[in-house]
Amino acid sequence: MSTDLQSSKKTDDENPLIAAAQGMSEGKQEAMRVTEDAREKVGREKSIGGKLFIGEFDKSKVMPFPMQSAEDKKIGDEFIAKLEAFLVKNLDPEEVDRTKEIPEIVLQGLGEMGIFAMKIPKEYGGLGLSQTNYNRVVMKVSSYCGATAGFFSAHQSIGVPQPLLMYGTEEQKKKYFPRFRKGEISAFALTEVDVGSDPARMEATCDLSSDGSHYILNGTKLWCTNGTIADVIVVMAKTKPKVIKGKERTQISAFILEMDSPGVEVTHRCEFMGLGGIYNGMIRFTNVKIPKENLIWEEGRGLAMALGTINVGRLTLPAACTGGAKQCLSIARRFGKSRHQWGQPIGQHEPGREKIAYIAATTFAMEALTYLTSAYADEHKMDIRIEAAMAKLFCTESLWKITDMTLQLRGGRGFETARSLRARGEEPFPVERAMRDCRINTILEGSSEIMKLFLAREAMDPHFVRLGALMSPKSSIGDKVTTAFKALLHYAVWLPKNMLFASSTDFEEAKELKPHFQFIEKASKKLAHSLFTSMMKYQAGLEKRQLILGRMMEIGTELFAIAAACSFALAKSKELNGDKTPIALANYFATISERRIQERFQLLKDNDDKETNALAKKVLADEMRWLEEGIIWIGKKE
Ligand SMILES: Cc1cc2nc3c(=O)[nH]c(=O)nc-3n(C[C@H](O)[C@H](O)[C@H](O)COP(=O)(O)OP(=O)(O)OC[C@H]3O[C@@H](n4cnc5c(N)ncnc54)[C@H](O)[C@@H]3O)c2cc1C
Repeated sequence: MSTDLQSSKKTDDENPLIAAAQGMSEGKQEAMRVTEDAREKVGREKSIGGKLFIGEFDKSKVMPFPMQSAEDKKIGDEFIAKLEAFLVKNLDPEEVDRTKEIPEIVLQGLGEMGIFAMKIPKEYGGLGLSQTNYNRVVMKVSSYCGATAGFFSAHQSIGVPQPLLMYGTEEQKKKYFPRFRKGEISAFALTEVDVGSDPARMEATCDLSSDGSHYILNGTKLWCTNGTIADVIVVMAKTKPKVIKGKERTQISAFILEMDSPGVEVTHRCEFMGLGGIYNGMIRFTNVKIPKENLIWEEGRGLAMALGTINVGRLTLPAACTGGAKQCLSIARRFGKSRHQWGQPIGQHEPGREKIAYIAATTFAMEALTYLTSAYADEHKMDIRIEAAMAKLFCTESLWKITDMTLQLRGGRGFETARSLRARGEEPFPVERAMRDCRINTILEGSSEIMKLFLAREAMDPHFVRLGALMSPKSSIGDKVTTAFKALLHYAVWLPKNMLFASSTDFEEAKELKPHFQFIEKASKKLAHSLFTSMMKYQAGLEKRQLILGRMMEIGTELFAIAAACSFALAKSKELNGDKTPIALANYFATISERRIQERFQLLKDNDDKETNALAKKVLADEMRWLEEGIIWIGKKE
């Protein structure tokens, strides 16, 4: 299949997804139309992740592994050494967790160091760090204090710097970037009480004043990280709807807002199970004036801007999770050797070994994904939305499992706070805090469920481009016949190619890891075939078969992780003068990942989805309320 296909971003009538949604509720149609409209157009090279879903494994995108250059590494090493010394001296993460405050001296020191201008180019007074170095900083800080990492990454990855880097005017960059070098803090305000994963329901409005000189913002934003202390934020709101073919279409726009503007009020600081020190709040806007020049990009492009920002911003989460995983590995290794029960170290009992092997190998794969996606971002060549989503999905889910395993290995000490452990003279390993801190990662910046939906939309895009007219009820008979004929010619070649689940590429350079690369090539063909046959089988109904789609997206994600881990192992082994331990880690990771992939392929054919749906429907229809008897009721009476 040709890989330089254009994205299927089309008008409503031409877009097969929107056309197919026409039987659905108004709300669902609007949600689909708004998100389809905000979908980024593919302008760069087709990505390795996207190709896996059409049966192609582009090894040139992973081999040789793009290791950080010595020059760039030196810049990162120097900054990180300074930062580490400062944090160890001035920041006690347990105190941050207890008091829910990051000390003023730390905020000030970080600002002076330039932490709020890390990715801002030098020409605007920033540090100009590469994505790789930025992610190394995130990894380091996350291994120590999740709240501090969350605080500066929310500013840098999704707050004002990132949207302005991507969509800002020269004037906006010149005005705001130098302020961040001086220590000012920003935030990103998209979420509302009724706007979580589905931004089409947005209620905040921003109307142009009658003289056209400024906008007027009204509404309330929820869970805005840094919102209670930010100097300036990016805020998304509805602007005047556009009338297209007689129908009103929601327009979401993005603005830079000074937090000291009259009418801005922080109404609540939110408190969470973890990340105690983040300054996250609910903000109310009442007739807030925003100068016209503070509009980012153009009217109606606010959601596209938000999604585009998060597409890059979410590269931070794999790094943050890798930092957490490395800390778990260190704790599991030390405790696994030193704690003796039943005649031997607990790490030497087989269940202990199983946990330690999983933690080590998965941490290695997470690091590989972090460095690979960082390198892609630094190269600026490839469209990396799919890889960023895969890395986010894989690393956030993996860290949760790793932390849980580490806690189990620590036994009662895993459940005890670091403060309590320290007070009675034991190693203050903060696994309990890590567990609370890392839980949010699978939810924010695109939950795991939304990541799979996003991946599915992108994975199916090449087929939508070819088969769109067949799926759209609005296409004429002529269009359908032409499309069917063209599709027949294409799929007559493509389908048989992807039914031979064989590897034809030479992976000699992969040496002992060669079988894993061959596995990726074979499995990607099988995946492409499964996706295509599911599309044919369920047609427009596939959108609702999220469990089927989810399994296929997990397979694609695992394949990408194997490719990253194996290629990283080859490069790392060379860097360590022929040390074979990276190969052992990649080999083990690929082996357990391949087993998960086989299980998911099996589940595509043989699953309990029908029963799952039926039972959940009964529960939601209140048919099993009797099962809740015996509890003390919490919340509103039903
Ligand atoms: C600590 C913290 C910090 C945050 N920081 C920010 C910030 O700085 N700025 C900001 O704007 N927002 C922020 N958020 C909001 C965060 O991005 C949202 O929580 C997230 O977008 C999910 O929205 P929701 O919680 O309303 O979940 P909902 O959208 O209500 O979803 C609830 C559940 O349903 C699932 N779900 C939803 N839709 C579907 C679907 N179509 N198919 C399958 N499953 C679905 C979700 O995956 C989730 O599991 C933060 C939240 C927290 C808790």
